Amino acid sequence: MCTTYLASELITEFAEYDVIGYPRLVRLNPNIPWKTRGNGAIAVRLGKGNGKRFLIGNIEEKDYFGYLRGRSVAIPNVKKRIERIMEEHAQFSDKNTNPAFVVMEKKPTPGLYWKAVREVVNLKDVKNILKMGNASYKGYKNQRGLIGATSAISWHPRDRTYEVIVYREKNRWGTKRRVDTHSVIEMDRKFPSTFNNYDMHNKVVAITPNSPCPVLFGIRGDKPRDLLKAKDSIKSEKKDRWILFETNQGTDEHLHKKTLGKISKYSSVVTSGMVGSKPRTIEGGHVIFKIKNRGTMDCAAYEPTKEFRTLIRSLEPGDLITVYGGVREYPLTINIEKIQIKKLIDVYEKVGNPVCKKCKKRMKSIGRGAGYRCIKCGAKVKEEDVKLEKVKRDMKKGFYEVPVCARRHLSKPLKRYS
Ligand SMILES: [Zn+2]
Repeated sequence: MCTTYLASELITEFAEYDVIGYPRLVRLNPNIPWKTRGNGAIAVRLGKGNGKRFLIGNIEEKDYFGYLRGRSVAIPNVKKRIERIMEEHAQFSDKNTNPAFVVMEKKPTPGLYWKAVREVVNLKDVKNILKMGNASYKGYKNQRGLIGATSAISWHPRDRTYEVIVYREKNRWGTKRRVDTHSVIEMDRKFPSTFNNYDMHNKVVAITPNSPCPVLFGIRGDKPRDLLKAKDSIKSEKKDRWILFETNQGTDEHLHKKTLGKISKYSSVVTSGMVGSKPRTIEGGHVIFKIKNRGTMDCAAYEPTKEFRTLIRSLEPGDLITVYGGVREYPLTINIEKIQIKKLIDVYEKVGNPVCKKCKKRMKSIGRGAGYRCIKCGAKVKEEDVKLEKVKRDMKKGFYEVPVCARRHLSKPLKRYS
C-alpha cells in the first residue's frame, strides 16, 4: 500500500523501544523495471536511546521521539509482530508489489546500498548477506522486496535530506485530497530550505501524491525544524498523523559518471559530450537528440518535462553539454533530469537574399543550393559566397533542470547546489 505508512504502524507497535536517529526513507534505482512507483524502502532503528532527543512523529495524538545515540536490544517475537502488521496492510494483489521485511542486529556494509541505488542487485547475493548477518526476514511473493529492505538498512548517509509525511484519516483514503494551494505557495516562499513544493510555471502542487494512498502530503527539505513548521502552515483536511523521515531524496546518489559507450540499461548517468544532432520533436511531444563523444546515444526530454523541452530544442549540433539522467532500455536513451550547457557554438545563418553590389537590388535564388542572380544586371553569386550572419542564441551557459512537476525523488534540485 504505502511503505512509509508502515513506518508509523511499526513505531506504534514497538513503542516500548526507542527509535534511534530518524526513521529512514531510502529511494533505490529509479530505472528498475520490476519496482513499485517510487522504489522506496524504509528503515527504522530500535533500541535503548540516549543523548539528545528530537521529535520524529505524532501518531494518534502522541508525540514520538528519536535519540541521537543508542544501543541495540534484543526484541522477542520481532518477526511475528512485524508479520502481523505487514499482513494487515500490504496489498499483495498488485503485481508489482513484493513486500518484505528484514531485521538485523548489525548493518550490512554500505556497498549494498550503492549498488541498489545505481545498478541491479541479485536476490541471491542479498540472501547471502542476510544469512551471514543472522537476519530474521520474510519476503512475500517474488521476494525481491528483500533487496530494497536490506539495502535501506545498509544506507550510511553522506548527503541527506528530510521529508515530513502527513497522513490522512482512514475514512478519507481514496477520496479527493483537500489541500489549500495558496497555503502551499506561501509555505514554499516562507521556507527556503524546502524544495519541490509547487510548480509555479505549470501551476501544480507537488507535495500531494496522485495515488489513492494514505499520504495527505509530504514536504521535503534540508532542515527538520523548518519542515515541522512548514507542515503546520499547510491548510488542509484533518492531519491524522505525521512522521519525519531522513532520506536520500534530492541527493543525486543514483547518478554515476560514465563515458558514452560504457552506459548500460537500468542505470542513471552523468555523461559529457557534444550535441550530435539537431533536437527534433517526435509524436507525443517528446524531444530527442543525439549526444556524441566517441560513441553516440539518444537523449530525451519527454513530454512531462513541459517547458524544459523549449530549452532542449534550442540546442545546436556542436554545443558542449553534460547530461544527467536515467537510462531507458528500448532504445537505449538518456532521460534527461538535468543538463549543464558548457559551451554554445556560434551559429551563422543567411539573413535574406544577397544584394547586388552594382544595382543595390536584392538578388533572386536560381534554385536550391545553386546561388543567386540579379534580375537587373544578371550578376551571379554562388551559394557558398553568400554572407552569413551570426545568430543570437536564445540560451545561456549553465545548469538547467526539469520543472518541479517532473522531478524524480532522487534528483538533486539545483536549489541544493549552493
Ligand atoms: Zn545587378
